[in-house]
Amino acid sequence: MYDVIVVGAGPAGSTCARYAAMGGASVLVLEKDRDVGMPVRCGEAVSNRSLEKIVDVDPRWIAATIKRFRLISPAGHVVEPDLGGYGYVLERRIFDYDLARLAVEAGAEIHTKSYVDGLLPEEHGWAGVTLSWKGERREVRGRIIVGADGVESRVGRWAGIDTTTHIRDMETCAQMTLSNVDLADDVCEFYFGNDTAPMGYLWVFPKGNGVANVGVGISGMASKKKAAIRYLQEFVDRRFPGAGVLTTVAGGVPCAVTVDSLVKGNVVLVGDAAHQVNPMSGGGITSGMIGGKMAGESIAKALRANDLSLLEEYPRQWEKEIGAKHRTYHRMKSAVYKFPDETLDDIAVSVLKLKPEKRTIWGVFKTALRHQPSLVWEMVKTFGLG
Ligand SMILES: Cc1cc2nc3c(=O)[nH]c(=O)nc-3n(C[C@H](O)[C@H](O)[C@H](O)COP(=O)(O)OP(=O)(O)OC[C@H]3O[C@@H](n4cnc5c(N)ncnc54)[C@H](O)[C@@H]3O)c2cc1C
Repeated sequence: MYDVIVVGAGPAGSTCARYAAMGGASVLVLEKDRDVGMPVRCGEAVSNRSLEKIVDVDPRWIAATIKRFRLISPAGHVVEPDLGGYGYVLERRIFDYDLARLAVEAGAEIHTKSYVDGLLPEEHGWAGVTLSWKGERREVRGRIIVGADGVESRVGRWAGIDTTTHIRDMETCAQMTLSNVDLADDVCEFYFGNDTAPMGYLWVFPKGNGVANVGVGISGMASKKKAAIRYLQEFVDRRFPGAGVLTTVAGGVPCAVTVDSLVKGNVVLVGDAAHQVNPMSGGGITSGMIGGKMAGESIAKALRANDLSLLEEYPRQWEKEIGAKHRTYHRMKSAVYKFPDETLDDIAVSVLKLKPEKRTIWGVFKTALRHQPSLVWEMVKTFGLG
């Protein structure tokens, strides 16, 4: 019997477990895979600011520090907006491991090879989970169950939360980690255009020593016509003909708004399972960790007060700090993804005419939004931009 059972030891689950344990809860984390953080299905890029907000950064996690950010339009116009900060390309094999270690140091227990396959019903909610552990059937009881089980999440569905993602918002991704690529170590590249990445983008993220994560994410609508891996293979053949392919992975990213119910009874969702990904960029590492931290803190508080209604603080805080912004990003993404290639080229040409100090990431967005005036007012309201 535990206070909290966390299903999934990704960044969101481990962070939630850590903060719940720091607040005095007994916490069990169950991870289906043999190794935490493996296989890596991720471009591994984060902004320094959002990562540093939630965790003390260990240099061992950082494969490359990104100082420049290059956007390439369909016709090949290159815009290099000022980031107003910098980014990291992580080593998630080390990073995910360490987040789990930090949770254990805070007092959580973790078991790998533990595949959760159902919730244990009781009269008013859920009494725990059923799982298969190294092939054996087990039941574990817990007062609160956290679904941190990623994009393929089932915990939410079992609890009756609607976690479906419209095919339009489900980015299908393919990624290769390439070696022997000739690339600056401090520049991330993003390619746009109907022939390269319809309703999405293609990324090149350096990891140092001639290694890079090169991937593509396209809307599920576009992948019906041609699979993401084919766009990626064509790009790699063109751009990096002499590269060695160290890994090839595929995966989905729910680029949608946050699920309606982050909490239902004694079940709480965090990370991709809760659609906490930034719908514009498709980045979900740090936003999932922020969700995990908020959830872990409110779980600890609710347990200390013996009042599960306090769990509702978590959705309120998420909505105030991030959820509303993600709704605006989602509407922006939906508008931008409809732009034809000519419009994307026009935007790049307009940005290149701006004075260098105005070529910020917001300068790019504002130029793009001139093509969708109805969104400008919404951005001003949400972000206070003039
Ligand atoms: C190709 C690709 C590229 C990406 N690139 C970036 C990027 O550059 N930057 C960025 O910020 N984000 C990126 N993302 C998104 C990012 O990977 C996710 O948003 C992030 O990993 C979400 O963390 P999480 O903890 O919610 O879920 P996950 O990291 O997916 O962890 C969920 C865990 O739950 C476990 N699990 C699932 N079901 C069960 C079960 N039944 N029982 C027990 N355990 C279970 C899984 O094994 C997994 O370990 C990318 C995604 C893809 C697919």
